Amino acid sequence: MREPAIRAIDTASIDEAAAIIRAGGLVAFPTETVYGLGANALDADAVRAIFVAKGRPSTNPVIVHVTSVDEARALVREWPALAQRAASLWWPGPLTLVLPRAAHVPDAVTAGLDAVAVRLPAHPVARALIAAAGRPIAAPSANRSNELSPTTAEHVAKGMEGRVTMILDGGPCAVGLESTVLDLTGAVPAVLRPGGVSIHALRAALGRVELRDGRVGEGEARVSPGMMARHYAPRARVVRFSGALPSAPADTWGALVLTVLAPGAAVVRMMPSDPDGYARAFYAALHAVDDAGCTTVFVEEPPEGDDWSAVRDRLSRASTPP
Ligand code: AMP
Ligand code: MG
Repeated sequence: MREPAIRAIDTASIDEAAAIIRAGGLVAFPTETVYGLGANALDADAVRAIFVAKGRPSTNPVIVHVTSVDEARALVREWPALAQRAASLWWPGPLTLVLPRAAHVPDAVTAGLDAVAVRLPAHPVARALIAAAGRPIAAPSANRSNELSPTTAEHVAKGMEGRVTMILDGGPCAVGLESTVLDLTGAVPAVLRPGGVSIHALRAALGRVELRDGRVGEGEARVSPGMMARHYAPRARVVRFSGALPSAPADTWGALVLTVLAPGAAVVRMMPSDPDGYARAFYAALHAVDDAGCTTVFVEEPPEGDDWSAVRDRLSRASTPP
């Protein structure tokens, strides 16, 4: 299969990408969280092509990206005061809102659920693409299902191996982990996936907010990829540790460390000691570990505390055995 075209950002590449979206095709594009694999959200066939390219189970819903609150409101039946408040505080940004869907949102987007997930991204390339396409864009992360999320155009090219014809290169993602998913369809707002916006911040602004990131299996009703016990995992086995580095295996290994040395590792990443910096560097470090052919990666436990909950969530899923 031929190499996907990584394209620099200019008016021509954005216009071309928008034309591909309007024609029902797929484009990989940067957002501030991770790179997305986008299609016209209102074209069921185009959305189904995302699932084929990713090898993603059709039971996993995808997030719809918009460039304004009005566009988000057009996709939902209700826009409660809490949605308005959350949007006014965090949009554009790494917060996804789950709301009752409007009738014209295809089943392919919501996996047949009566709710749709919407987000207004901050990345200027994502926003320019959605605006040029003139359509909301459905986009999960631009990786094969169950593989690492991409935070650079090169990660997308490597992971999607010719399954996507165009990749807009917006540089490394500034947040580096997927968005916080906030479900506003129930009596109490619930975080389905921790992310760039912390539950502490949500509670401070919105009042009562539940954490409902229980690990669910694939057959369950409200299944979503961010809720799978094992997800966001590299090929290497992830071994978490605190204190001293565990004894090294005989074959190639890597380490993501905060305080200790890792002599003999094929890949060592000294991780940033602040949660935002850590999040930004995390997937790229795991990609480097996999690229070097490591069979094991030792990951030093990040600190406790609400600010680290998104990092700890991804780490815990990445270290869950298959
Ligand atoms: P990903 O595309 O890998 O970023 O995952 C999309 C995430 O959005 C999932 O983890 C779900 O938690 C969430 N999601 C998307 N659509 C819905 C929906 N209709 N209802 C509930 N959660 C959703
Ligand atoms: Mg994903």
